[in-house]
Amino acid sequence: MKPMLQLVDVHRTYQIGESTVQALRGVSVTIERGEFVAIMGASGSGKSSLLQILGLLDNPDKGEFLIFGKNINTLTEDEQAGVRNNVAGFVFQQFHLLKRMSILENVRLPHIYSGLKGDFHQEATERLRQVGLEARADHTPNQLSGGEQQRVAIARALIRDPMIIFADEPTGNLDSKNSVEIMKIFKALHEQGKTVIMVTHENDIAAYAGRVITMRDGVIINDERREGLEIPVVVAGAGEFDLKGAGKCSLWQDGRFTGFMAQAFQSILANKMRSFLSVLGILVGVASVIAMMALGEGAKAAMQEQLKSMGSNMLSIRGGSAKIHGASQGAGAVARFTFIDIDDIASLRTLVKNAAGVINGNVRIVYGNKNWSSSLTGVGFDYGTMRASIPTVGRWFTREEIQKRDKLAIIGVTVVKELFGSSNPLGKTIKINRINFMVIGIAPAKGFSGPQDEDDVVMIPVTTAMYRVLGKDYLSSIFVEVASPTLIEQAKIAISELIRKRHRLKEGDDSFNIRDMTEIQKMLTSTTQTMSLLLGSIAAISLLVGGIGIMNIMLVSVTERTREIGLRKAIGARKNDIMLQFLVESVGLTISGGFIGVLAGIGVSLILSYFAGWAVKTSPISVVLATTFSALIGIFFGLWPARKAAELKPLEALRYE
Ligand code: ADP
Ligand code: MG
Repeated sequence: MKPMLQLVDVHRTYQIGESTVQALRGVSVTIERGEFVAIMGASGSGKSSLLQILGLLDNPDKGEFLIFGKNINTLTEDEQAGVRNNVAGFVFQQFHLLKRMSILENVRLPHIYSGLKGDFHQEATERLRQVGLEARADHTPNQLSGGEQQRVAIARALIRDPMIIFADEPTGNLDSKNSVEIMKIFKALHEQGKTVIMVTHENDIAAYAGRVITMRDGVIINDERREGLEIPVVVAGAGEFDLKGAGKCSLWQDGRFTGFMAQAFQSILANKMRSFLSVLGILVGVASVIAMMALGEGAKAAMQEQLKSMGSNMLSIRGGSAKIHGASQGAGAVARFTFIDIDDIASLRTLVKNAAGVINGNVRIVYGNKNWSSSLTGVGFDYGTMRASIPTVGRWFTREEIQKRDKLAIIGVTVVKELFGSSNPLGKTIKINRINFMVIGIAPAKGFSGPQDEDDVVMIPVTTAMYRVLGKDYLSSIFVEVASPTLIEQAKIAISELIRKRHRLKEGDDSFNIRDMTEIQKMLTSTTQTMSLLLGSIAAISLLVGGIGIMNIMLVSVTERTREIGLRKAIGARKNDIMLQFLVESVGLTISGGFIGVLAGIGVSLILSYFAGWAVKTSPISVVLATTFSALIGIFFGLWPARKAAELKPLEALRYE
């Protein structure tokens, strides 16, 4: 029969900077199942170091450690964690209870890492009864005395029904009355068949043990059993415990993941203010992504609406080459359009909905003692609807007025401002190139198109403009509204054939040109897209900054909870368990930040559209994108802190101050 624990010439040396401390210098000892061992010695003699190696919290630098004959060198770190969870229960001088959890949750904590099914509520209550604290199950550790806390720690050590209990100065922080209570519990456990290995430097505590190992300067100087105590009889089959599978346990198995979720939630709530501040960056980032994209989408939609009102199926036909710097433009090279052309084009009924002639010129407008140069547009009746120029203040021309060459004018807002200031121009008489006109309307504001002020215009009937003001008998251009956007190309071909025939132009003669609005539309759309992209990337940068904030706070959290991590590892958490716990937490933070951010973003968009009158349009895609992105940020920026936490050695983490 192989001994339960066997150390052969074990050494352990600590390195602190330049200096080395030889804590263990050749320890050989065998401990059998069912023993109650006290390790004694002066402070610094290596008692804790020995216990930690026996409990797999630490590994020897040199020498052999065999458990039931199995060399622990063959076990990976995670497998050792599994053994700690399955076989060992730890009781520390400092209790190491997790402050945020209730007593009951503390007791059942090792089960998170056991991979077993169930909530273990019943079992944890039973263990608490064993140490006389079942009435305190809902309390937190802070509400308990030192002695009670140590009893909770013992209950936790028992929850996995371990073969061995390791206790490092379990009464070191307790008064004598509480010490006696604790020792009674250990004695009872030993009587129930547990192996107890305990470090102490007090003789009356050691007196409970059946075997006392005394250490000095890293070696065992004495090892004696109390009189009448034989080496316990080893029960047959008792040495067979399964190391297989101890290290394997899927992260998603049996509610482990939901356990981590609950703990992450708890930890976020425990630091409400800090959690909120740390997600603020994500919140602002997501909110601005949503709002910016809504703004961009809104601008695009408004632009398209405007283009539609301008007429997306509009053609403009102009005399002269499309090439502004064309090679030769000899006399007669420019086609001159008249009303006959308009009638011809309008007669293409299946393709053309409307056609209107326009003549342009520059004029001088005088009102009272003010005068202003502006561009004149002579318009036909249909121009108003085709180019969305029907006045909102005043009225449009009638067909009759246009035919009769009436001297009526509709002026743009820039002209109104220059000539009338804030007084009402309707019904007033202005002079256009020294001819009197009556103002009957104000053209709807259109803003700038490139460098050109579209509101610096005056519109008068096309006939009046040709024959009375500009003295020309031809039109500058013809606007054609095509019956449907799909017919634009067809209409272009038909119209140019018509014009060539009527003006007897040869094929390839470019003395006129036809443009459509789709080119302009394309250009405008790409401009708004660039703008959205720009706004979006600014918002994305703030998300990135938010992510760095999360990383920072997670690093703080890992440092702050180093001892918690140490404890979790001591009771059997594997690397992935710790990593997942912290990842869940950081993703929880960023997702909740993202969620609030989405709401805030939608709110901001609504406020912008309401108060500033800006067009906004929240798209579901931006909401999905922002949320997914914030989750990814949680993973990405949480990964490093989580890894850092997972890589901690249980022992060093436990000793961290
Ligand atoms: P004991 O428990 O008997 O008081 P320890 O086993 O804790 O003694 O320590 C033995 C020696 O090793 C001491 O000199 C102590 O300072 C040193 N030591 C223990 N742990 C560490 C460590 N993690 N890093 C550096 N030195 C350590
Ligand atoms: Mg010690």
